[in-house]
Amino acid sequence: MSNEPTIHRFPVDHEGAFVNAYLVETESGVVAVDSLLTVSESRVMRRGLAGLGKPLLAVLLTHSHPDHYGGLSELLAGEDVPVVAPQGVIDTIVRDDPLKEQILRPMFGDEWAAERRFPNTPIGDGESLEFDEAVFTVVDLGPSESPWDSPWILGRDERIVFLGDQVYDQRHCFLADGFWEEWLGNIEMLRARFSGEVLFLVGHGGPVGPDAFEWQRRYIETFLDAVGTADWSRPEQAHAAVVARMKHYLPSDELQFLMELSIEPVAAQLGLTAPGSPGT
Ligand SMILES: [Zn+2]
Repeated sequence: MSNEPTIHRFPVDHEGAFVNAYLVETESGVVAVDSLLTVSESRVMRRGLAGLGKPLLAVLLTHSHPDHYGGLSELLAGEDVPVVAPQGVIDTIVRDDPLKEQILRPMFGDEWAAERRFPNTPIGDGESLEFDEAVFTVVDLGPSESPWDSPWILGRDERIVFLGDQVYDQRHCFLADGFWEEWLGNIEMLRARFSGEVLFLVGHGGPVGPDAFEWQRRYIETFLDAVGTADWSRPEQAHAAVVARMKHYLPSDELQFLMELSIEPVAAQLGLTAPGSPGT
């Protein structure tokens, strides 16, 4: 018997993958961390689970965004297992899912699950769940990258952390929920807490090390400065100016649409324009 759980990342072919989820294989079962966004990728993840030949014991959610819970119904395939998250994540998903349906259905069509499953088992900050040799401890962050975020630490030695979207790995970021002050505070808290040889398994790209916190902080600050200094008397030029600035900071197209979806909502939250378009 191995005394370390095995972590499988999905999609297996990671090149250009939109979002990650994980299966943590223990001696007698499997614990999922998040699901994927699309129906077809979530089915592949379910087949990967079946291929392990062990029962699904639980699903743990890292935050409230739909790209990480939308595929739960395919992953669970009718099974009734605990889907665990802090109450704030559960409440946010239940509250926001009808709006996500309106936004994501036109974007993804049938790849956005017709019926979604929601987390059903609350857990408190700092509480742990134990499955064979795997101990998972939740960090209930509250609002951060999403309206409610909950990274999971694997192992008592805290060397592996499922960080959700607290840091993106050199991809453009979603800021439209507007909790950037809390997010920046959480980045500093997490950076101080996990300062050594820690592997961060993240929601997009990765894995990354502690250096990623500094990149993420500067991404957020650059974005806020770009939105804040744009000339919002000319909204289209302002949008283009923010995009140009962010692509100078990160010369990549990956997840650019998430950043672009954030520009007008953040401008509105900063009081630069009339409140308007909802993001995802
Ligand atoms: Zn995400």
